[in-house]
Amino acid sequence: MSHDADMIAMIIDSAAAAIESNKDHLTKLDQLIGDGDHGINMSRGISAIVQKKDELSSLPFDEACKMAGMLIVMTVGGASGPLFGSCLMAIGKGRARMPTNRPELAAMLCDGLDAIKSRGKSDIGAKTMIDVLAPVTAYIATADPFSFEGLRQASADALEATKPIEARKGRAAFLGARSIGHLDPGAQTVTLLVNSISEALENRQ
Ligand code: ADP
Ligand code: MG
Repeated sequence: MSHDADMIAMIIDSAAAAIESNKDHLTKLDQLIGDGDHGINMSRGISAIVQKKDELSSLPFDEACKMAGMLIVMTVGGASGPLFGSCLMAIGKGRARMPTNRPELAAMLCDGLDAIKSRGKSDIGAKTMIDVLAPVTAYIATADPFSFEGLRQASADALEATKPIEARKGRAAFLGARSIGHLDPGAQTVTLLVNSISEALENRQ
């Protein structure tokens, strides 16, 4: 098995474990400020990817990302489907191999972040998944010294910081000021993914 194949399989496994074990928590968060389907949406998307794990991990990185993104777009009904799907497609674009250093990883996440921003017509501060992905990307780009523990802390802090924000995008925006005081479900998903994937990477070294 090639290094990338091994890594793709490992990332799929750790993402799936994180989503499946937090499915009910994600749904509860979305019941508070949305329509209560975020856990189901994420579980459906990651299950479709797990089913194709062998095929995905045999592909070059760019093609694996494209296929995984398309699987998410096809299986996830909510707003998060096209957002995570276009993020994955952008992450793979022009990258036949996985990043091998921190600047490359940061550039890759930046492309994913830009795709979410343009697909969602959104930016930092609207109480969305962007509010975790943007600071996590910045930490990876600039932290000195870098540590996985620091990365997870940056992600946890950014998630917590979504609480006092009044939502301006997605279903939560319909609640206006009543969205204040709750964590954003999509931001929680990004934090779960950062935690699980970074732990897998750290334990692998
Ligand atoms: P839906 O809102 O259609 O039910 P989900 O519940 O699966 O879809 O996902 C909701 C999450 O999607 C939100 O918590 C938020 O993080 C994210 N989201 C929604 N709209 C946008 C947007 N325009 N830009 C970025 N993220 C968004
Ligand atoms: Mg929802």
